[in-house]
Amino acid sequence: MANSNNNRFYSCNNCWNPVALKEDLLSKAFVVIFENLVLIMFKSKFEKQLITGKFTIADIYCIKCGQVLGWKYFRAHDPKQAYKEGNYIIERAKLFKGN
Ligand SMILES: [Zn+2]
Repeated sequence: MANSNNNRFYSCNNCWNPVALKEDLLSKAFVVIFENLVLIMFKSKFEKQLITGKFTIADIYCIKCGQVLGWKYFRAHDPKQAYKEGNYIIERAKLFKGN
């Protein structure tokens, strides 16, 4: 409780809107994977062929400035990739790396 709340979040690098809790981080690569996101929005879902297979995804946007941050996996066409369903992907470059 004594800690600053800001240290618990990753923020949009464009407007500093907090978009993800650090404790929800699942993976750190050139993209980061989260179980939950806050203060983001979706537009329509679409099919996309990724390196790991075909997925139904939706782009996710910062709710404050509208910048595209990454995408959410809704459905994996390959059952081996089903563990990704419901996860959010954000490009590292889109996150403010302040603290
Ligand atoms: Zn933003």
